Amino acid sequence: MVRHLLLAGAACFILASASAASAQAPAAAPDLSTPPPLVFPAWGFDVSTIDTSVDPGDDFDAYVNGKWKAATPIPAKYPYYGVSQNLQIVSEAAVREVIKEAVTSKPAQGSVEQKISDLYVSYLDRPTIDSMGIEPAKPYLAQIDAAASHADILNLFVKPGFSAALSPGIDIDPDNPDAYLATFSMGGLALPTRDNYLVENERNIDMRAKYIDYLTFLLDKAGVADSKTRAERLYAMEKQIAVNEWDPAVMRNPELTNNLMTRAQILALAPDLPLGAMIDNFGFTGVERFNVPQMPPSAQELDEQKIPPELRAKIGGGLPAQLALFKATPVDVWKDWLKVRFLASNAAVLPSEIDNASFAFNSAYLYGVKAMKPRPERALSTVNSSIGEAVGKVYVERNFPASSKAAMIDLVDNLRKAMALNIAEVEWMGDTTRAAARQKLDSLRVKIGYPNKFETYDSLTIVPGKALDNRLAVARWGRQDALQKFAKPVDRDQWFMTPQTVNAYYVAQLNEIVFPAAYLQAPNFNPKADPAVNYAAIGSTIGHEIGHGFDDSGARYDSTGRLRDWWTAEDKANFQALGNRLATQYSAYCPFDSGKTCVNGKLTLGENIGDLSGLAIAYRAYKLSLDGKEAPVIDGLTGDQRFFIAYAQKYRNKWSEQLQRVIMESDPHSPDVARVNEVLRNFDPWYKAFNVTPDDKMYLPPSQRVTIW
Ligand SMILES: [Zn+2]
Repeated sequence: MVRHLLLAGAACFILASASAASAQAPAAAPDLSTPPPLVFPAWGFDVSTIDTSVDPGDDFDAYVNGKWKAATPIPAKYPYYGVSQNLQIVSEAAVREVIKEAVTSKPAQGSVEQKISDLYVSYLDRPTIDSMGIEPAKPYLAQIDAAASHADILNLFVKPGFSAALSPGIDIDPDNPDAYLATFSMGGLALPTRDNYLVENERNIDMRAKYIDYLTFLLDKAGVADSKTRAERLYAMEKQIAVNEWDPAVMRNPELTNNLMTRAQILALAPDLPLGAMIDNFGFTGVERFNVPQMPPSAQELDEQKIPPELRAKIGGGLPAQLALFKATPVDVWKDWLKVRFLASNAAVLPSEIDNASFAFNSAYLYGVKAMKPRPERALSTVNSSIGEAVGKVYVERNFPASSKAAMIDLVDNLRKAMALNIAEVEWMGDTTRAAARQKLDSLRVKIGYPNKFETYDSLTIVPGKALDNRLAVARWGRQDALQKFAKPVDRDQWFMTPQTVNAYYVAQLNEIVFPAAYLQAPNFNPKADPAVNYAAIGSTIGHEIGHGFDDSGARYDSTGRLRDWWTAEDKANFQALGNRLATQYSAYCPFDSGKTCVNGKLTLGENIGDLSGLAIAYRAYKLSLDGKEAPVIDGLTGDQRFFIAYAQKYRNKWSEQLQRVIMESDPHSPDVARVNEVLRNFDPWYKAFNVTPDDKMYLPPSQRVTIW
């Protein structure tokens, strides 16, 4: 919906895939209780959790977080648990109160409380959903059944609530950040990444077999005969989509994914397909200008972007190949594909056996979740993801005091000052680029807590007892809302996350950093804690988001958000050389399969630059706040030691191995252990604070440490 349509260029703080993993399970009496909130005593950290048997220079994450991880199981209903999940639990508890009040308030028809209440209760009502069986899905499946041509399939691709292998969409114009720009994209993979289809290894082979079983089950439920054979046929088609796709590391380069085309040029790619009608049916009548992210780059473009041969091999045929695949694939295969996608994406509000099968594959198998979340928690997530600003408005009134906003404004100002000093001092950059970087920092916009105006969902109709129809209504509303926004100048008051979201983000085209209220809770932001803790925790996140404006992708946009090269050739070469060194370091972090499965240093480069610069400017801002004075020693720890301990505490999370593997393949963030250890070993003050010497395992000789900002 609109948030996804418009979030193409955003870089956030927390692993993006994690939220996809929540679902529910048919297991026998697992413990589904929610753990009590974590506490952050005294100055913001419990020193008894330090593992004194670990040398901090050997493994700093283990020193700070190892004891906690060893003593803390991942609760059965989560794919991961720790500081991040704990903030999620706190946020959900507050949202639950808002929903409860709406449900018990006997709200007037059409009021926002009525929409919250009926959306929540209809989702919650598993007995009613089960008693109706597949019946509520039949009108939608019938629309798919009625398709007789490729033209009919294209029309289904643009219907809200149906999946699409080809689709128009909306982004912000990289040449004019005050305007939206239409896009024309491809997609359609269900496994986490193209490599799962294309790389031969034991795990992928097993994953494909399980996926084909799941497809077979869904085709059975859709009433399709000969389901096993047709599931295999579907998989074969999807594998061709994977061949056409681009590697996620390549997709991070906006120079390669910005390809302006006219409507006529897109139509000319497939003259025998009614793409013009499809674009009109999406709601883009009269729209002539599009960005096509996956148009194959020329050899010259690849040379200019210094794309290495191994990455070139992972750039598929893109949109032209996808159009060819679309035409070559029989209508019946597309109908099967649309049916399984419809059932899979709406499994939560279809009969239990479909919901359970979805959990078994998508959550238990792919992410290692042991048990299904209780239905009320999932119903709450649906309200959050469908009409989140409706509950978010009340959430912030109760949970985000003005004092927190004021304190955050001060902190952000201090972080900006620190970044300005670092920009003034970095040695690898000349004065012309330096001045432009400074201008970009000065132009950065900051949003804290909640939007100035909240979405009211006036034209959305939610009805009691119709969980599936309500989902489709939300999808239609999302399209309508996006198209209304598209017709106007870019709405700079819009938020791409709700206030109750535990995350933060940067948007390059808007040059803005955004911190939702739910992220601004302990241990991230703790007004009672020692300043060292706050600078290390929320300070490094503020720095991380600022750093995205200056990472390998964000640095291609100027102070106004235009995709424009503001670098001298020499400075750009220096910047890229530093990035390459950092990528090589991270690619050597290989936690699985006896060192054979490693972080993808190119895919994670932007987030790693964000982490590295975030730590550096947070530390500098902390020092500035001390104004030359020595910080007090507390619990035998110096201010610097507390700073680095609190930094590591921010990543006190435990992940299932399955989730971690998926994330390493597909997510631009590094695993949490690397977000602590790989960052710190590049940072000189950490060495001094813990007396780290060449005989320590994390030690890097000064010449090998990377400082970018
Ligand atoms: Zn980030």
